[in-house]
Amino acid sequence: MDDNKRILELRKQIELNSYKYYVEDNPDLEDWEYDNLFRELKSLEEKHPELITQDSPTQRVGGISEKFNQVAHKVRLYSLDNSNNYDELRAWYKRVVKEVGVYHTNQMNLFGDNLCDIELVGELKIDGLAVSLMYEKGRFIQGLTRGDGVMGEDITNNLKTIKSIPLKLFEDVDIEVRGEIYMPVSSFEKLNKNQIKNNQKTFANPRNAAAGSIRQLDPKITSMRDLSIFIYTAILDKNSTILTHSDAMDYCKKLGFKVNKYQKCKNIEEAIDFCKKMADYRKTLDYATDGVVIKVNSFASQNELGFTARAPKWATAFKFPPEEVWSDLLDVEFSVGRTGIVTPVAILKPVSLSGSVVSRASMYNFDEIKRLDISINDEVLVKKAAEIIPKVVKSRKTNTSKPIVLPDRCPCCNTPLIEVEGEVARYCPNKKGCKAQIKGRIEYFVSKQAMDIDGLGENIIEQLINKGYVYSFSDIYKLTKEQFLTLDLIKEKSSSNLLSAIEKSKNAIFSKFINALGIKLVGKESADILAQHYKDINELKCAKIEDLSEIEGIGEKMAKSIALYFSDIENLKVIDEMIALGVKIKNKYSGVQNLRLKGKSFVITGTLETMSREIAQAKLKELGAKTPSSVSKNTNFVVVGSNPGSKASKAQDLGIKILSESELIKIIEGDYDV
Ligand code: NAD
Repeated sequence: MDDNKRILELRKQIELNSYKYYVEDNPDLEDWEYDNLFRELKSLEEKHPELITQDSPTQRVGGISEKFNQVAHKVRLYSLDNSNNYDELRAWYKRVVKEVGVYHTNQMNLFGDNLCDIELVGELKIDGLAVSLMYEKGRFIQGLTRGDGVMGEDITNNLKTIKSIPLKLFEDVDIEVRGEIYMPVSSFEKLNKNQIKNNQKTFANPRNAAAGSIRQLDPKITSMRDLSIFIYTAILDKNSTILTHSDAMDYCKKLGFKVNKYQKCKNIEEAIDFCKKMADYRKTLDYATDGVVIKVNSFASQNELGFTARAPKWATAFKFPPEEVWSDLLDVEFSVGRTGIVTPVAILKPVSLSGSVVSRASMYNFDEIKRLDISINDEVLVKKAAEIIPKVVKSRKTNTSKPIVLPDRCPCCNTPLIEVEGEVARYCPNKKGCKAQIKGRIEYFVSKQAMDIDGLGENIIEQLINKGYVYSFSDIYKLTKEQFLTLDLIKEKSSSNLLSAIEKSKNAIFSKFINALGIKLVGKESADILAQHYKDINELKCAKIEDLSEIEGIGEKMAKSIALYFSDIENLKVIDEMIALGVKIKNKYSGVQNLRLKGKSFVITGTLETMSREIAQAKLKELGAKTPSSVSKNTNFVVVGSNPGSKASKAQDLGIKILSESELIKIIEGDYDV
């Protein structure tokens, strides 16, 4: 095919897929597949510059839908050029150094000439949706999507539902900032599970889930989705005394914005080291990242370098290579979850994927097996879904492929499976007798986000159920040392540890207690909303469907499910029994506890990772605590972030309790008593 024809074909393909991605939030292609088409087009256009047209995707930014009011950006937004190899990064840097063109008199740089190195900043590239936020006198007044860079969609009301977007800054300034809206991976997974349950379309990845959630016409729906933001650009006044990107980010933090960690790099080699470090580090995060953005730090140099039609010349993105691998599908297991949903699990020939060996992967539901036409002995493409749970995304037949037999009975208790109208999942209806469901419920009950009973793992729970010691939640509070000692591998020490963990969990937080009950459709967030509206479990028990469904974030379906749960006498009996056995439920939202840190004094030193110092202090003050700037004998706690000052050692000298950032968060959230 001649180049001209191929260019036209590529443009058509890219435009179609951009529409699906930017406007419908429903891409058909994987990002790397799209990126390959884009790169091919770019290199053909470089070969034939006479064929470049203004409307070519290489000359444009993103896409825009008609759904919202369109508003012109005050300052244009751009995309980023990207590469996935280090030599391209080096070539970019060489161009930057040459173009800025500051000469040393007597020093050589990395490339053997005497041009000055240019300081860079490396930041994680968050895989979400770009927005711009306008503040006047410190108040949030308007938020727009990036759109096509010139016009954005007005999504102000939806943005106001995101808690990490401050409605009021710590200073009364006029400023525009830009950042990336994202959905944490764990929330994305939960959302997709709910979408499946409610027979609604699932999202391909956290980025599409975030984009789909923020571009809802009804802000109520947005408010129910767990969204957050990282700010990565500040548009400063021409007369500002802030001269570098890194200082601008520190300033944003001071204003109350959530800013991710960045790294200053002396030259491109340090930036490449940062990319390598981040390739592993990002796997520990609960948000999706698709690369590293490298920016020239000095605003003066940025201005000198300027922009192409589509991207700044002073920044580039390094994209992490795709993380997927082919394996053989040896078998399929069907696992039964706590709500009775039967999920197909692929048993794979072990393969190495993103640094770990994978031998099991999710196949979501029975329809997914049909949709992807998967058979046993197929070769299957396995991908880390949103970088955490591997899933099968494609399959190809082999000579020995044979159909998967889908069960019509529960693999655990043999009860015939049922389908629920409007849902894709198959259920085992034997709620009370199916051991897999009981085990799933107990596992959830003891998990960190629920009653947080440390050490009560899967294996112990299975033995406790098989021995008939545990059937309902209240049975956990009746367990004895003698019973534990009858279990495999449990000795004196571990049985007393388990008993003290159970004892500790008796001081329960109301929102976590509600979550622990495993009421259908009620997860961590909705449990928290319920705790804000009801004083205690007795009030919640009697809540009427009409009242529950009025609560923002609950809705009719969940309201019915909650009422149904509390209409079951056995459920009420289990709750009463737990209380009789000593479980005390504290509501962190009730008035008295809102000032639960009254009389305590906290000093913060060093840089905190998840919030600015000012925000941490504001949160502590809300709870009644004092937050003086220096350590004295009256200080109760010193919170130590990275690069702490002399306050940390002074605290040690005075014997004051030192807290880590995660301990501080627990205290603020009421999960840790002081
Ligand atoms: P991009 O996502 O590659 O890079 C630009 C964007 O990065 C910015 O607009 C900003 O939103 C974001 N970003 C995240 N962290 C940042 C930080 N710290 N600093 C600055 N910016 C940061 O470019 P794009 O134009 O938004 O999208 C193009 C990409 O979208 C493609 O490379 C492809 O991966 C994907 N895409 C996929 C499909 C598909 O069909 N799968 C279709 C269209 C686009």
